[in-house]
Amino acid sequence: MYILYVDESGEPSNWANQKHFVMAGVAVHEGAISNLADNLEVVQKNYWPNVKVSVEFHAEHFKHSKGWVKTFSLALREQIMTDVYKLIQRTTFPSLVVFGAALSLDCAADAFQVRKDTFEEICSRFNNFLIWQHRIRHTSKGLVIIDKCKEDEYRSLLKTFQNRTKYGYLGNVVDIPYFAESDKTRMLQIADFCSYAFWRYMEGDDDKYFQLISPRVCRKPDGQLDGFKHLTKDTKCNCLSCIPHKI
Ligand SMILES: [Zn+2]
Repeated sequence: MYILYVDESGEPSNWANQKHFVMAGVAVHEGAISNLADNLEVVQKNYWPNVKVSVEFHAEHFKHSKGWVKTFSLALREQIMTDVYKLIQRTTFPSLVVFGAALSLDCAADAFQVRKDTFEEICSRFNNFLIWQHRIRHTSKGLVIIDKCKEDEYRSLLKTFQNRTKYGYLGNVVDIPYFAESDKTRMLQIADFCSYAFWRYMEGDDDKYFQLISPRVCRKPDGQLDGFKHLTKDTKCNCLSCIPHKI
């Protein structure tokens, strides 16, 4: 079984301060989850040696100096973030596979459509990955887990979704997603960091975190990039999704 942890960056209804809404999914094989969580515990122990409770890794807190890192310097916050991204980078295919979808303002109508279109891309590409795994006799089903704080938004979206997308039926993805609290689910924190890396990359802030996770973005069996989709009408965009041969 693969579990796809989904998180988002940006606001699907507030376009005054952003050019993109981004969603990321991190598919982790069930056998790799505890090892990845243990490694995140090691990162916590390195920086909070005396804290026994679980420190929530939330990328926005690192950016805005809030929560557990509010007293930390910028350099230290960036160092911890890099440690987390390197942990993602070290967890190699097919234990961990990253998916991303970015939607530009020119494709946005309302919050429901923005979230639906990006979620559809993430789930379709996750389904593609499961099909390719099946063809090499690594047959698995996929389960989707979403942050509980967005439960209402996704429940209304899923009523219309029902595993049918513009790409067809998602036969390998279990049609009932689960909702979990991100402060108790280390893998949702990993998805949050991936979403933030895509966001920084697309907003043009910098690509240093995206470069660390881009080797983990899903590829087709021939090596071509499939796991990242940019929804835009801009034909001149030169992001990795619009010009995948850049990598
Ligand atoms: Zn693009």
